[in-house]
Amino acid sequence: MLAVADILLRKISHLLTFDADERELRGVDVRIADGAIAEIGADLPLGRGETALDCSGLIVLPGLVNAHQHLYQVGLRCIPELERSSIAPWLAGLGRTCMRWWEDGRFTPEMVSALAKAGMTESLLGGVTTLADQHYFFPGGVTEPYIEATIAAAQDVGVRLHAGRGTMTFPQSAGGTAPDAACQSIDEVLRHSLELIGDHHDPDPLARIRIDLAPCGPHVDRPELFAACAEIAAENPGVGLHTHLYEEVDTWFCRERYGKTPWEFIVEHGWGSGREWLAHMVDAPITEIPQYADAGVGIVHLTAPDLRMGFGLAPVREWLEGGCKVGFGTTGSASNDGCNQLGDLRLAALAHRLRPGGPERWLTARELLAMSTRGSATCLGRSALGVVAVGAAADLAAWDIESVDRVGVHDPVIGLVLSGLSDRAEMVIVAGEVLVSGGRCTRLDESLVAAEARAALPIGKTA
Ligand SMILES: [Zn+2]
Repeated sequence: MLAVADILLRKISHLLTFDADERELRGVDVRIADGAIAEIGADLPLGRGETALDCSGLIVLPGLVNAHQHLYQVGLRCIPELERSSIAPWLAGLGRTCMRWWEDGRFTPEMVSALAKAGMTESLLGGVTTLADQHYFFPGGVTEPYIEATIAAAQDVGVRLHAGRGTMTFPQSAGGTAPDAACQSIDEVLRHSLELIGDHHDPDPLARIRIDLAPCGPHVDRPELFAACAEIAAENPGVGLHTHLYEEVDTWFCRERYGKTPWEFIVEHGWGSGREWLAHMVDAPITEIPQYADAGVGIVHLTAPDLRMGFGLAPVREWLEGGCKVGFGTTGSASNDGCNQLGDLRLAALAHRLRPGGPERWLTARELLAMSTRGSATCLGRSALGVVAVGAAADLAAWDIESVDRVGVHDPVIGLVLSGLSDRAEMVIVAGEVLVSGGRCTRLDESLVAAEARAALPIGKTA
C-alpha cells in the first residue's frame, strides 16, 4: 500500500457538503488525515508533513457513489443488434454473446478484470469514488473467480467497491427466465457467497471492500434464494442485499407466477429489513411508496438505462416526497454504453421535466447531486461516505468552474450539472489519496488500461 500524505485543500471556491445542514461553503479549506476528513474551516494552518493543494476555481463535493453497476458489461457496449431492443430480447442477446465468449474460452476472470478496470477508471475520471457492482453471469454454472478479479481490479484502481454476488438460479426449463446454461444451484451460490464474505468483506465504516448478496431478479432467481440471502445478510454486519426490481419483465413474471407484485414477492421471502437497495423500480406502483419508506429500503434511480430500454421515467419526485432513500447509478454498459454518472445527472435533470406536475416538481441539480452522493451511500448503508463532514471518508471529487465552457454560469452547482463540454473531473481523492489530478489518473496509465481491456475483448462476436 502506498503511503498517503495528509492533505490540506485550500481555498475551495465552492464546497458542497451534503451534511446534515446541507451546508455550502465558499473559500474554505479542508484538512485530510489518515484517509478521513479532519477539519473544515477558513484559512486553516498547514500542518507538519501536509501537502497543500490549491482548490481555487474548483467546485468540490463528496465523490459520486454509483449504486448499481455491472462492470463486466463494459465489453458489451453499442452492440448493433441490440441498439433498439426491449428487455426480453436484450437479455437473450446478452446471454448468447456471453455464452459464445465462454465457449470460445474468452469469458475468463482475466477478461472480467480488464473490463472492470476500464469501467472503474472511467468512473473514477468522472468523479465516482465508490461503485456497487453486481456480477451475476457465471457461464456453464461454474463459479470462476470473476468477483475476486473485480475486487483485485478495484484495489489496483483505488476505488471503493461493493462487490455484489449476483446469481441466476431459475432456469427456463424449470419455469424461470434465465438461460439454463448460466444457472447455478442455490447451494453453490450460498457456498461462494459465504466464501467471499469470509475472504473479502470488511464491516468497518470506512471499508474499501464490502460484499453484498445480489440475486439478479425475481424472474431469474428462485424464491428460496431470496430467503437464504436475507438470512445470511442478517447474520453478517454490513452485508447488504441488492436486486433488480420492477424492470417490466419481473413485474409480469411475479404477477403470472406468484399473483403478487415484485415487492410483495421479496417481502414474503424475508426482504424489507432496510438492508436492501433496489434498482430501477420503473413500473412500481405509487401506492407501495409508504411501504418502501417504512421498510427503509433504498431505491436506485437509473435515468439513462431506463430510457435506453424504453422503460420510461421512474416516479423519483414521488419517492422523495414519500420519504424513501433514493440513490443514483448508471447500471452496466450494455444498457447505458458508458459509466458517466455526471452525464446521466444532466440527462435526468432534463428528462424528468417530462413527468407530470409542472416545473415545481422537476428535479434540481442539488437534488440530483444529493441522490448521487449521500443518497447512494445511504442506500449502501455507508453513512461515512457521500458527505463532507469531520470523520467522514476523504472521498472527494472536484470540477473546474472557471473553464471557458462555464463562463456566465450564475450558480456553480447548477452549472456543474447543466453546463460544460466535459464531465471529466479535475481532481478525485479516495481515502485521502489523490487518484486524479489535472483530469488524469495518477496511479494508472489510462491508455494502458484501455489497451489491456481492448486486447481482452472478443469484439465482433456479438449477439
Ligand atoms: Zn442492472
